[in-house]
Amino acid sequence: METPLSTSCLIIGSGPAGYTAAIYTGRANIPTILCEGELPGGQLTQTTEVENFPGYPEGIQGMDLMDDLRSQALRFGCDIRSKIISRVDFSRRPYRAWTDEEEEITAQTVIIATGASAKYLGLPDEKKYAGRGVSACATCDGFFYRKKTVAVVGGGDSACEEASYLSGLAEKVYLIVRKPYLRASKIMQKRVLENPKIEVLFEHETDGLFGEEKVEGARLTYRRGTPEEKQVEIAISGFFLGIGHHPNSELFRPWIQTDPEGYILTEGIRPLTNLPGIFAAGDVADPLYRQAITAAASGCRAALEAERFLAAGE
Ligand code: NDP
Repeated sequence: METPLSTSCLIIGSGPAGYTAAIYTGRANIPTILCEGELPGGQLTQTTEVENFPGYPEGIQGMDLMDDLRSQALRFGCDIRSKIISRVDFSRRPYRAWTDEEEEITAQTVIIATGASAKYLGLPDEKKYAGRGVSACATCDGFFYRKKTVAVVGGGDSACEEASYLSGLAEKVYLIVRKPYLRASKIMQKRVLENPKIEVLFEHETDGLFGEEKVEGARLTYRRGTPEEKQVEIAISGFFLGIGHHPNSELFRPWIQTDPEGYILTEGIRPLTNLPGIFAAGDVADPLYRQAITAAASGCRAALEAERFLAAGE
């Protein structure tokens, strides 16, 4: 059997939280392995321009921001691996983790920074048409829908951002909103409502999709359960999810306490979990703010806590 890799700090995840943690542990001379996970660079690699990360007065492309953070982590000696952690054993210390190739890593401290992933409605048709008209990432897949008609479901900032982005490519964008109002910030609402290419379908729920090979349309219900209830069909080639995200904490749940939605519970401002030496940073532990800058800040805090924990030699 191969000797497991061993490290002082294992960081799982490569969004702003993971890389920031790596910059701090690196500068503190703490041997660190970072496993990038399924989506190296995290959610920001799927967005276009980031306008609200301090230090970039003209904005920066999400991909470029993540490349910069990665380079900064490398500069301070982080051992970054393109690996997915698929199993962990936190029952005793040192903590153990395995990659999907069954390589074992043992670690004195672990920083969980696995972020969050897009939610789906749960319709069988989403699976049926996966990769054939259904997508949860407008910036990844929008290109395929140039000059076509698409729909985005959701009424928050994500959905409005996706709809605005797609309106630059597609001929027409429907925004399917289940409530009679948008939940998005005022500026995003304005952008959507004033965009002539976007038609907002308030009080519509999606029942299913149809099409021979690929998505050709969606079946909706207007005002379900009211006297005005009616079935509506829209012709679309693409169906985009924009209904929020769920925290990627499944792997850790046997050991790490979460709230009912799966967000890892931490102690107020401190990124401490219920286990000593295991810290959580970024969206996986943040149901409230979910911003790149708040994720980066919590990655910094997690690294400082790991440093303190290792120095105390508990
Ligand atoms: P939100 O939770 O804010 O919004 C989710 C939206 O999806 C709501 O309109 C919700 O409807 C709708 N929804 C949820 N489930 C369903 C369902 N089953 N069927 C139909 N509709 C559904 O998530 P977001 O991802 O939009 O935003 C999360 C956080 O990230 C927010 O704090 C947001 O401000 C931030 N963000 C900021 C951005 C930016 O500043 N550029 C960009 C993207 C996100 P309902 O209102 O009825 O619950």
